[in-house]
Amino acid sequence: MTELENILKNEFPESSLILDREAMEPYSRDETPEKLVFYPDAVLRPENTEEIKKLLNLANSYKFPVIPRGAGTSRCGGPLPVRGGVVVSTERMKKIIDIDTKNMFVLLEPGVITGEINRTLKETGLFYPPDPASIDSCSIGGNVATNAGGPHCLKYGVTRNYVYGLDVFTPDGSELDLGGKVLKNTTGYSLLNLFIGSEGTLGIFTKILLRIIPEPVYKSLVLAIFNNLNQATEGAIELLRRGVIPDALEFIDRDCVMAKKSQESELPDLKVGNYLLIEIAGFSKEEIDRYLGALGDILENAEDILVADQPTQMEALWKFRRGISEAIDTENLIIPEDIVVPRTKVPEVIMLIKKIAKKRKTGIYTFGHIGDGNIHVDIVSTGDESIVEEILSIVADAGGKISGEHGIGWTKRKYLHYSRDKKEIELMRKLKKTFDPNNILNPDKLFI
Ligand SMILES: Cc1cc2nc3c(=O)[nH]c(=O)nc-3n(C[C@H](O)[C@H](O)[C@H](O)COP(=O)(O)OP(=O)(O)OC[C@H]3O[C@@H](n4cnc5c(N)ncnc54)[C@H](O)[C@@H]3O)c2cc1C
Repeated sequence: MTELENILKNEFPESSLILDREAMEPYSRDETPEKLVFYPDAVLRPENTEEIKKLLNLANSYKFPVIPRGAGTSRCGGPLPVRGGVVVSTERMKKIIDIDTKNMFVLLEPGVITGEINRTLKETGLFYPPDPASIDSCSIGGNVATNAGGPHCLKYGVTRNYVYGLDVFTPDGSELDLGGKVLKNTTGYSLLNLFIGSEGTLGIFTKILLRIIPEPVYKSLVLAIFNNLNQATEGAIELLRRGVIPDALEFIDRDCVMAKKSQESELPDLKVGNYLLIEIAGFSKEEIDRYLGALGDILENAEDILVADQPTQMEALWKFRRGISEAIDTENLIIPEDIVVPRTKVPEVIMLIKKIAKKRKTGIYTFGHIGDGNIHVDIVSTGDESIVEEILSIVADAGGKISGEHGIGWTKRKYLHYSRDKKEIELMRKLKKTFDPNNILNPDKLFI
């Protein structure tokens, strides 16, 4: 038994601690396509915040890394213990503590699976909009730490726009209680916003206060199928320019559709093409009909437009969209980029990326939240990683950023300079040092 194991065994109950190597296997990996594996020295599954505080105090005394982990669905190695240490998994902290339907807030623990929030709110007429495609497997703590996005963020905003309060343990073991049920707050630096998107490097969240809003009653889902890739992407941009702001506006290129259709049995009759999936929602039937009319006019280049208004049809189409990442993951992918560019640059950037695929004789899949300019770019590996730099240069030239929602984590830190300049990176390093002088919390993430 190592010294660290001895220390932990003396301090924590058996029910919270995992020291057995085989039992630690699930915590050695995440959903990064490169299938990385790093074993921790131990896993702590706290049931209460006292255990988190104690662990951080020990980590500062004995100088070992502590790595916060939600549900481990990161696509960039965020919760991996790359230099060992203790993984803190929030899997047993999954209480929905309070639903305040009058002020419209919900208070919960970080380990709650995101999809559980709206299932719990179902009867209240309220909902929490951010909906990553991993909604039924990721945790709300992980969503806050990565500022997760999803299809509905086009109309409603991303995770950051819904987090109004956080209980956080900073790396020195002290607790902060940030924000509250106030809709405006101009009382100094927004520490709350500094923690959102900090990828487990500045603090461990133990309670999260989310704003919730009334859920539209009427919904329709439209699938527009285009033969021509450019007409699909231009069509999406034109919709928004003409004032049609759907609840969601998703793009799936022909390569993704073919990969998914080769596995999918629920929708075998769908034509192959470049897809736009458009959700229209509102509080009256007239509102929906008005939008559907406008859609038909604007998307005149579509080969086919299908309208689904039955819940089972809509769910089948959404399932198709959510399954794209996994359908492609069967290939030998390298770093799936989740680039974000100014909306109007999307058609040009996708065309340039497809040209690179042709030139390098490989496959590049593109799909995602086109209304936000946030496109997932999944590259089939030829063993030559310079393709990533070529794509990121195009993104930077278009005024874009290397991640719109997945974060930087471990795998993309070498590319951070494509999105942040030297001065900014230096300032972020100083912040990290101020919060975490011993560099114990999720070290080696974000920065090289
Ligand atoms: C099929 C698939 C589809 C996906 N689709 C989307 C999508 O549409 N949009 C999107 O944004 N992402 C998407 N993702 C990526 C991933 O689901 C998100 O990044 C998600 O927010 C991670 O949550 P998690 O609970 O799995 O966190 P983890 O993967 O466990 O951790 C992610 C980061 O959060 C930190 N962290 C976790 N919990 C805490 C806490 N309590 N306190 C402090 N830090 C913490 C970790 O240290 C790590 O840096 C997808 C992933 C997959 C596999």
